[in-house]
Amino acid sequence: MRALNTILNSVLNLIFPIKCISCGEKSKDFCALCLSDAPPAERETANWIFPLYDYRHPPIKKALHLLKYKGKKRLAKIFAEVLYEKIMEELSELSVMENFREPLLIPIPLSPKRYRERGYNQAELICRELIKIDRNKNFKLEKNILIKPKETEHQARIKNRRERLENIVGSFSVKNVESIKNRNIILIDDITTTGATLAEARKILKKSGARKIIAFTVAH
Ligand SMILES: [Zn+2]
Repeated sequence: MRALNTILNSVLNLIFPIKCISCGEKSKDFCALCLSDAPPAERETANWIFPLYDYRHPPIKKALHLLKYKGKKRLAKIFAEVLYEKIMEELSELSVMENFREPLLIPIPLSPKRYRERGYNQAELICRELIKIDRNKNFKLEKNILIKPKETEHQARIKNRRERLENIVGSFSVKNVESIKNRNIILIDDITTTGATLAEARKILKKSGARKIIAFTVAH
């Protein structure tokens, strides 16, 4: 099956060669050169949120749109590789300074309705790739603990910060509270804008007994 998949992929690559979404070179969906050209996120965020890239950079914006809405799932792996470096960098310090050990990796969930419409959760795809890269098992994926039972308006459609907060308040729940008691948690999302979604997720996880919570996103 694996061999067959490899052959099938090679044939597909001949017909539809993988091109960089930014420069068009036939290599990866987002080539290393273009990725290294992407400016890091510099706008202010809460000190527990670590975004990688500046969302205003057009190729980053395009890549995240393709990953989130157009099924370009291979981009999850490309971003996970860069995210992993950043996570390990932060963990090396946090594990010593704050005793931040054996964290759980939790993706920001979609509501069941949106999950059905889209067929996948881009944050979960990134987490799955992170787990594959993490051969030393620095963290463990928990994708069914933080859930989003009800649908909310798309945060991206609300411009006002206060309204974004109000929109998201109470939209998450924690299943199986016991499994996060006193645990350190790394939240993963594709984009953070005002931080309202991450802050709400953090609030409910804290309330449920989690220890320290930090978050990593591809862009801000
Ligand atoms: Zn490129």
